[in-house]
Amino acid sequence: MLDLFYYGHPVLRSKGRRIEKITPSIERLAEQMVEAMYEYDGCGLAAQQIGSSLQLAVIDVVVAMKERPSKAWMNGKQIDLECLSPMVLVNPEIIPVGNQTDYDDEACLSIPEVRAKIKRPTRIKLRYQSLDGEQLELEAEGLLARAAMHEVDHLNGILFIDHLSAHELQKFQPILHQLMRENSVR
Ligand SMILES: [Zn+2]
Repeated sequence: MLDLFYYGHPVLRSKGRRIEKITPSIERLAEQMVEAMYEYDGCGLAAQQIGSSLQLAVIDVVVAMKERPSKAWMNGKQIDLECLSPMVLVNPEIIPVGNQTDYDDEACLSIPEVRAKIKRPTRIKLRYQSLDGEQLELEAEGLLARAAMHEVDHLNGILFIDHLSAHELQKFQPILHQLMRENSVR
């Protein structure tokens, strides 16, 4: 089982390297990340969270979908997320669609005990490569869009708490300080 890296560890602040070639070791890593995502009960996991600074993330929002719906379209046609999941995103990119935003709860396996409402674009375009090297593009709304933005942030060294105001962040300072003390590398 892969170990998780927690808030305070510098790898979480690193921008992941672009994956130029999908090698067997990248395939194996993606497989292990999917297993870890299910084991730790998350709906997404980025390479930085298991200590690898790469443009690689996995997502599965299907279990959470009953309470937090998601929709996705490929080439203008709505697609069934169950067929697409778990998703492995190689070199993903996000392009917001329209100006609408919404607030919803977010949490992160790397920042235990912190949960907050985060403002994000409502609808996005997600471009990524599959493990077969196929270039894919889909539009997404709901939890899938939010999870994709959260994971792509990780791949660029950004954490969801970075979207909070200084005032909102204040109440989490004790736990953040503790995590920082435990996980920073001296
Ligand atoms: Zn996270």
